[in-house]
Amino acid sequence: MSTKEEHQYAKKIKEQAYNLGFSLCGITTPESPLHIEEYHKWLSDGLHADMEYMGNDRARHMRANPKDIFPECKSILVVASNYYQGEFLHPSSDAISGKVARYAWGKDYHTVMKHRLQELMGFVECVSGKPVRYRLYVDTGPLLERELAQRAGLGWIGKNTMLINHNIGSWTLLAEAMLDIWLPPDEPYIVDRCGSCTFCIDACPTDAIMSDPRRIDSNKCISYLTIEHRGAINSDRRSDLDDWVFGCDICQDVCPWNNRFAMVEHDVDFAPVYPLPHLDLHNLLQMDQSEFSRTFSGSPVKRTKRSGLIRNASVALGNHGDDKSIHALANSLSEDPDPIIRAHSAWALGKIGDKKVVNLLNCARDNEDDVDVLVEIKAALEELSSQEKKQ
Ligand code: SF4
Ligand code: SF4
Repeated sequence: MSTKEEHQYAKKIKEQAYNLGFSLCGITTPESPLHIEEYHKWLSDGLHADMEYMGNDRARHMRANPKDIFPECKSILVVASNYYQGEFLHPSSDAISGKVARYAWGKDYHTVMKHRLQELMGFVECVSGKPVRYRLYVDTGPLLERELAQRAGLGWIGKNTMLINHNIGSWTLLAEAMLDIWLPPDEPYIVDRCGSCTFCIDACPTDAIMSDPRRIDSNKCISYLTIEHRGAINSDRRSDLDDWVFGCDICQDVCPWNNRFAMVEHDVDFAPVYPLPHLDLHNLLQMDQSEFSRTFSGSPVKRTKRSGLIRNASVALGNHGDDKSIHALANSLSEDPDPIIRAHSAWALGKIGDKKVVNLLNCARDNEDDVDVLVEIKAALEELSSQEKKQ
């Protein structure tokens, strides 16, 4: 192929990517990422919390050497889907609800984007007139995908570490296709348009955003704590979660590039699927395993598993502090088969701080045999007793 033909070929592939519903598409090479040392420092500083799969030897090696993932790779196609659906008002009912990060309101993006990428690969083969070998990744492979996206010209990496595009903001999800054919790479996006802005750093309720170099401390980040972290959430961090039960959008919500340029995408695959976008927290506490699986099958929310989501719902109810939640939390404390959920329900009852909670906690203590839950009940009773002394 001549250079002109190669550029036309790349142009056709990008047009087809847009036809398939992707909002951005760029091309880069499989060279080692420039920021790999910063990434290794992020790992060695323990900022990946307990996401061990990111720090193991294989993952480190592959992220540093994309060619070793797929030695035949000559080009990487990077695509982004805009999932922004606009603002959704809280339901008019007086249900107490929890917040879910926007990317998780609709169908599972892994499935949606993989399917679109597979269709795109069919087109690539059709246009090239020969079989093309490829590997597809949707937030799954050991790739530094934001750096690849920046190198493919899709935008810059903001202080909140999200990829930001100057036309549509940062409400996007990334995916990659490693191809065994050469395509002309796009110019990297080298301008940093954050300037002196610090809105995301100032707005982060947990001080998780570090500015020099730009990185997130996962140990503090609500997204990590509500989605990736398994087991009990450290009691010092629970108030930080406020009413987030899956992820956190604060550092994107405040970004001027989103406020000015976010484009509402009426992409049906990312439209909210009931009961999202707002989850009724009392209903969540009543969900058994089969109802959880039925409700969130095909949704990114299932990643937390039942234990994580209802743990988060208990914490959010404690943060709401509404005595209307006492009944639901007391039921959860006495009936839920999962000790992690019972422990967080005990904490939440202690936060609500109503006198009738003391009897409920005492009763639960007499019937509880899990050591960790007993510790939480004791702490909740102590919290209530110290509140009473102050009054
Ligand atoms: Fe902070 Fe939330 Fe952004 Fe995490 S997602 S860095 S907690 S604002
Ligand atoms: Fe950059 Fe400001 Fe957006 Fe943060 S809020 S990512 S500093 S432009």
